[in-house]
Amino acid sequence: MSLLPPERIERVCGFGMASCADGYVVRPASVDELEEAVREAVRAHRKIVLRGAGRSYGDAAIGAERVVIECTRMNRILSWDPDAGLLEAEAGVTIEQMWRHCLPDGFWPPVVSGTMFPTLAGALAMNIHGKNSFAAGVLGEHAEWIDVWFPASGLQRLTPEDELFSEVIGSAGLLGTILRACIRMKRVPSGDLRVRPTLCGNWDEQFDAFRKFESDADYMVSWIDCFAKGRSFGRGLFHAAWYETDESAKRDSLQPAHQDLPSSILGVVPKSLVWHGLRALNNRSDMRLLNAAKHHSARLPGGKEYRQSLVAFSFLLDYVPNWRMAYAPHGFIQYQSFVPKLRAAEIFAQQIEMQQERKLEAFLGVLKRHRPDRFLFSHGVDGYSLALDLKITPHNRDRIFQLAHEMNDLVLSAGGRFYLAKDSTLRPQDFRASIGPQSLAKYRRLKDTLDPDHLLTSSLAQRLEID
Ligand SMILES: Cc1cc2nc3c(=O)[nH]c(=O)nc-3n(C[C@H](O)[C@H](O)[C@H](O)COP(=O)(O)OP(=O)(O)OC[C@H]3O[C@@H](n4cnc5c(N)ncnc54)[C@H](O)[C@@H]3O)c2cc1C
Repeated sequence: MSLLPPERIERVCGFGMASCADGYVVRPASVDELEEAVREAVRAHRKIVLRGAGRSYGDAAIGAERVVIECTRMNRILSWDPDAGLLEAEAGVTIEQMWRHCLPDGFWPPVVSGTMFPTLAGALAMNIHGKNSFAAGVLGEHAEWIDVWFPASGLQRLTPEDELFSEVIGSAGLLGTILRACIRMKRVPSGDLRVRPTLCGNWDEQFDAFRKFESDADYMVSWIDCFAKGRSFGRGLFHAAWYETDESAKRDSLQPAHQDLPSSILGVVPKSLVWHGLRALNNRSDMRLLNAAKHHSARLPGGKEYRQSLVAFSFLLDYVPNWRMAYAPHGFIQYQSFVPKLRAAEIFAQQIEMQQERKLEAFLGVLKRHRPDRFLFSHGVDGYSLALDLKITPHNRDRIFQLAHEMNDLVLSAGGRFYLAKDSTLRPQDFRASIGPQSLAKYRRLKDTLDPDHLLTSSLAQRLEID
């Protein structure tokens, strides 16, 4: 019986809901079922898009009329060795499963994204970074091995000694299917962090804060008020955090119950309702006020060092279920660019100025510090990234894309890079210029060898003309 009847067609979207496509969605629970789905796609002359939990913001895990192989049901933890700190897991195991499994033994994932819902394979396919990117780099640097199924040659185990390892990790699911991986988990002294906020009045203070703490903090991140102008231009709230070593933090903080996020906000409002409120405020004037209020509230007494669980600090956005629905029905894009440290302040300031001139300010801006890495499609630079959430409406869509293209030009002029998990707006020439012609030529040679019929694709691959 065909796996691809019309009933299988589903509308799948990027997390930002601004890019969607109808595909035949298959959810294999085993490698055998995955291989059967591939054979079925080949018989039906359809290409394949690999998908994890769909947490990439843009069009990396969607494809019109493709067979979308969603790996979330291949979600078994295969082994956990607390002595060595090694976790072996299937493709669809989530970051949440990883920390829940290992934290009671005093281990935490070495790199996590701002949400705990991505799958391990999706996270490796994009090579995610976290708020410790400046110190720990990207997730691929913490993998002992990956098992990958290549269309041309079948299953292969890759270790960091294999050149292919750094070519497949980060290649956005276009070279092979990651089936399993082994991750070196991070030993932590407790499940809590000591968090120190620093209120920054402008861009200079932002970058000073990163420089001040980068030699010893475990995590650093800063929020930017993208509406602020004049003397407050670039203001925001920086946080540095350290693993809590205080004995009193140890006992309970490693238990998942200590980490669980509360089910209500301020003990009263059920979290599941909060996005409705956010939606009412999801317009330029209210967001300007909310950003200003956030900044001023950080001045209040109590803005000193505090203790916070790893989950609460790492996955702030998971506090509000369905928060993205505040951007419905047209969604939003996240624009994240990575700029070498010498030019970052100037380029990010210009990006925000351009947004303000056009009244297209990002409702949320997040600044992080990064380091370079050896992966083929690396987004890492010795510098900073600024992630900007830009609301899409039918009236501003073209202007947002025009703005993004001009911001891309700025980033490229400074030798910067982009991140495919967040991208919606790059043009083929932007991507070529950012990774360089040699890397692209290398990718194309690999593609012809590992996937000669170009079975693996995505809307992103087509848009960037890397397919
Ligand atoms: C609220 C939020 C916060 C985020 N914060 C961060 C952050 O701080 N840092 C960061 O780096 N990212 C962040 N992200 C992005 C997210 O971590 C990445 O997009 C991640 O790749 C999502 O994993 P996923 O399982 O949802 O994969 P998907 O988004 O479904 O797919 C991602 C890519 O993986 C490929 N893929 C999926 N399965 C496989 C497989 N089995 N084999 C090979 N390729 C496969 C897909 O084709 C696609 O190209 C954030 C996302 C959200 C929604």
